[in-house]
Amino acid sequence: MNVKLQESHCFKPPPYGVVHSVCPHDCPDSCSLLSRVEDGKLVKVEGNPAHPVTQGVICRKFAAAPTRIYDSDRLSYPMKRIGLKGEGLFEQITWNEAIETITQQSQTIVDEGGPASILPVFGSGTGGLVKGRSVGKRFFNRMGTLQLDRTICTKAGRTGFRYTMGTSMGADPRAIRENKLIIAWGMNAASTNIHHQIFLKEALKQGAKHAIINPVKIKGTESADYFLQPRPGSDAALALAMMHVIIMEGLYDKEFVKLHTLGFDDLKLRVNKYTPEYVETLTDIRAEDIRKFAHLYADLKPSFIYVGPGCQRHSNGGMTLRTIACLPALVGAWSHKGSGLYFPTSTIFPVDVSPLEGNDLRPNPSAKYNMINLGRLLNDEQARIRSLYVFNSNPATVMFNQNDLRKGLQRDDLFTIVHEQYLTDTARYADIVLPATTQFEYADLFFSYYHFSVQLNCPAIEPHGQCRSNLDTFKMLADAMGFEDECFEQNSRDIIKEILKLDHPALAGVTFDELLQQGWCEANLEGAHTLVEKNLFPTPSGRIEFYSKRMQQDGFDPLPDYIPPKESKEATPDLHDKYPLYFLTASDQSSLNSNYAQHVKGNTRHNRPRLIIHPEDATPRAITDGALVRIFNNRGECHLLAEVSETVKQGVIASTGLWWGFQYPDGRNPNHTTPDFTGDIGGGSAFNTNLVEIELCVETDFESEHVSYG
Ligand code: SF4
Repeated sequence: MNVKLQESHCFKPPPYGVVHSVCPHDCPDSCSLLSRVEDGKLVKVEGNPAHPVTQGVICRKFAAAPTRIYDSDRLSYPMKRIGLKGEGLFEQITWNEAIETITQQSQTIVDEGGPASILPVFGSGTGGLVKGRSVGKRFFNRMGTLQLDRTICTKAGRTGFRYTMGTSMGADPRAIRENKLIIAWGMNAASTNIHHQIFLKEALKQGAKHAIINPVKIKGTESADYFLQPRPGSDAALALAMMHVIIMEGLYDKEFVKLHTLGFDDLKLRVNKYTPEYVETLTDIRAEDIRKFAHLYADLKPSFIYVGPGCQRHSNGGMTLRTIACLPALVGAWSHKGSGLYFPTSTIFPVDVSPLEGNDLRPNPSAKYNMINLGRLLNDEQARIRSLYVFNSNPATVMFNQNDLRKGLQRDDLFTIVHEQYLTDTARYADIVLPATTQFEYADLFFSYYHFSVQLNCPAIEPHGQCRSNLDTFKMLADAMGFEDECFEQNSRDIIKEILKLDHPALAGVTFDELLQQGWCEANLEGAHTLVEKNLFPTPSGRIEFYSKRMQQDGFDPLPDYIPPKESKEATPDLHDKYPLYFLTASDQSSLNSNYAQHVKGNTRHNRPRLIIHPEDATPRAITDGALVRIFNNRGECHLLAEVSETVKQGVIASTGLWWGFQYPDGRNPNHTTPDFTGDIGGGSAFNTNLVEIELCVETDFESEHVSYG
């Protein structure tokens, strides 16, 4: 496909032709797309073959976009609630009525309780810098509401990683082909980062070895050269034991350690107790396997570790990443382009977009709330939250401790607005539902948290029905509320150009013209190997810090360590006796967070939520393959069909994907059991620290729209 656009055309959908788009989902790949339009309709979406990461390949989920956006369940007009909260009964209203109701209710709430009674709730659902990062923030800053601290994804790991490296920029993941060893640690690229698989295959063809560290046998484990299956939450202990072997046996890169690190002697003392034999008791990995793997890591140079978010979504997640991040420095891996360690980070583009967020519009000092506390806040009488405005997010599916959260959402005195593309589990609790555009219907600019492209998304089609973008909706609300600030007059072209004008070296060479012509432009960013070349890491000492004074000042242990998960055999033996199974909510190819799953049709084994359980855990509970089981702890319960398999290790169970309420036997998803406490560092989520028990469900009268049970 040959795409050539003039600026005047790129913000107006063509009746026929091919348009540059970007996949807006919360996925590291951020695919560059070519969207074909015929007679004003989107007919096909393909991966851009010219993009160096997309390489013409997109996932099956997103390739179905043309069907999905015209699906009969797409919201196409504003609605108000006529049933009970959660029931999903609404009637159509006009946009004028919707905006008037929201404005009046919001003004009453602000008059009675102040702007902090209103909470904006948004995630990375779908949206770029315009839709996701600027327009909503401006509006809520202008109102003076609390702002959202988005901690749920990678904040703990990112903060921990920074204590070691001084930056969240790791190895350039596109340049991994020269490595001799590639380790996937707590990540499942086949489900969550398919383009990494392309780079991995190239490296394997050149003779690299592949290792997987994961409590679950993910796709690809059968062909991996090495597989270690630690107990959930024990990853830091494994890393410390590897360091023990590498240091005590003198296998480390002495030159690199001398030139580029700080605190080696303290680290040596710290890892002294983490012998492979001791760590076997913490991880369930045999001491001889730990020793062998440590030797392998020290011998096969250079190497690349990809740490996924899985192992940092524990109560000890920050320290875990801080600890794993020390490994590449011991073997000198950071010296090579594409080697060292990569951790997904939404701050890979160190471009400060805060001027776009309207912090200067606030009538009051800025105050934030941690999104993980949403359920608690809604149920806390002192917090006096009276209204929620939800966009780009589906908290009634993705947030933890759902019983608490839904109790809050059910409050009669809570006025809830949800701006969405479909009637999500959250939208069913709304007082007002606003229909939202997809990215095929508006212009936006995207960064990625995997590769280094800046990408322009041009609208391919006119908005579906009466759907409106966040930009248009917040502009209508700003007008109705009498906000006369200039920024509310900006259209997406103005905002995109303002971002590109930001004075930051990362954007040097990124031009609007090039974005127009090819849809993407490489940012001026390099992996962490350049820090070695400059001999300057952005830590207080300028070195990679095994010992971090900054951590100490922040109230943490200055050295890497293993802290047992808050719910575990070591930390809470009594709780473990009662709820002896570690419950992981694993990813799955069918969904991305809670996106896509609602459109998975069929009734095959893999087209519905499942619970994977090891035979040794299933047999004593009389659980057989395909049986309906109840999973429970003191926070809540859910029901799933069992898949008895050695995919998980004994003592661990794993659900597959995150589906919508109607796809679960009793409408409850695994997040009814997950904890809403925050992790050790950075206030991150800890939902993989979750002990449960399960039992066979003998009789049930559950009904589901998707599959019959009982
Ligand atoms: S979900 Fe990920 S892999 Fe699929 S098209 Fe979007 S960015 Fe690409």
